[in-house]
Amino acid sequence: MSAVIKDSAQPQQTLVSLCNLNKHYGDFAAVDNISLDIQDGEFLTFLGSSGSGKSTTLSMLAGFETPSSGEILVSGKSLVNVPPHKRDIGMVFQRYSLFPHLSVRDNIAFPLAIRKLAPAERNKRVDAMLKLVQLEQFAHRRPSQLSGGQQQRVAIARALVYEPRILLMDEPLGALDKKLREDLQDELRQLHRRLGITIVYVTHDQEEAMRLSQRIAIFSHGKIVGLGSGYDLYQNPPNAFVASFLGNSNFLKLKAQGNGVATFEGQSLSIRLTAGLVTDQDVLLMIRPEKAQALSVEQAALQPLQTGWNEVSAKVGEVLFLGESQTCTVMTQGGTSMTVKALSAAGMPLKAGDQVRVRWATADACVYTQWAESDLNKAAGAH
Ligand code: ADP
Ligand code: MG
Repeated sequence: MSAVIKDSAQPQQTLVSLCNLNKHYGDFAAVDNISLDIQDGEFLTFLGSSGSGKSTTLSMLAGFETPSSGEILVSGKSLVNVPPHKRDIGMVFQRYSLFPHLSVRDNIAFPLAIRKLAPAERNKRVDAMLKLVQLEQFAHRRPSQLSGGQQQRVAIARALVYEPRILLMDEPLGALDKKLREDLQDELRQLHRRLGITIVYVTHDQEEAMRLSQRIAIFSHGKIVGLGSGYDLYQNPPNAFVASFLGNSNFLKLKAQGNGVATFEGQSLSIRLTAGLVTDQDVLLMIRPEKAQALSVEQAALQPLQTGWNEVSAKVGEVLFLGESQTCTVMTQGGTSMTVKALSAAGMPLKAGDQVRVRWATADACVYTQWAESDLNKAAGAH
């Protein structure tokens, strides 16, 4: 008897390499020199706003688009001249593109029929897929007799039935409503865990990317501008664009004053050590709203500032109750707007017009030395 046991301690192996990949339309670079290693068995998501090059990159991997230049390697072998149906890759789109005149069973069997599998083997695999996506009792229905979520499960089963090594999914849940999308996200995560295949997923929805992925590649203007786990990208964004794109952020503009010190609106603050800072250099500080605290003047007087923490004075503009959490928007004396977020359970006894002290730990604030003003605006399409 033999069993394949996946050893999670095993070093990961690169399955797909995108090497200096470009796609130009005229002199417009839809994909701009992307290099990326995709690990065998991982769930990787391309996340970015509309038009950032996600689908074009995925289409080159699938073989529907030809790169202008660059290489795509799978297990070290070039794919560029391999036609799509010989790539060992399954694909699921937002539009389910099921055959309307075929039953669920025949839709799923279709890739096996064109690959001329023997009927017995075909039936066995289709049965297994129907079970996998929990549509056994719908096998004889037509796509039009199914809900959107069920149709997408058929599309997923059809993409998986010939056991591809890699599954590509381009906004597959984009047409479904929120509750159904979350159910299917859970199903997809379980499916990935059970099958152990490599999934490359495209979405513009950061929450979906966070829920599903082991790693996220953040796209902007045809480039990958951030790559890592959702946790790392959120906690320690590599640049101001990623900080602004993922979640919410406060940006403060400071001037460096030497090692670990910078001034903000004339006041001295401590910042994380950053190599090569020169005096009076512009630096950007980023603090997540939930890492900052707003204390009333009275509260602040009772709680002396601890070492390793910073404090600025501000005035409350608005307090919003959001159910689980509350946010408070404040304005510093120099006119910088900040948002502080706290769990409702922790209480936030503040109201508009209150004078407050905003505090944060130096270790919780990221420091950037290079950024563009446009990085600080929430990118279009990011939710
Ligand atoms: P995303 O999937 O991230 O929304 P796409 O990869 O579809 O973005 O597109 C990236 C950019 O390339 C967009 O600006 C889009 O308009 C452009 N583009 C895509 N396909 C073509 C094409 N066939 N001809 C010209 N421009 C294209
Ligand atoms: Mg797209």
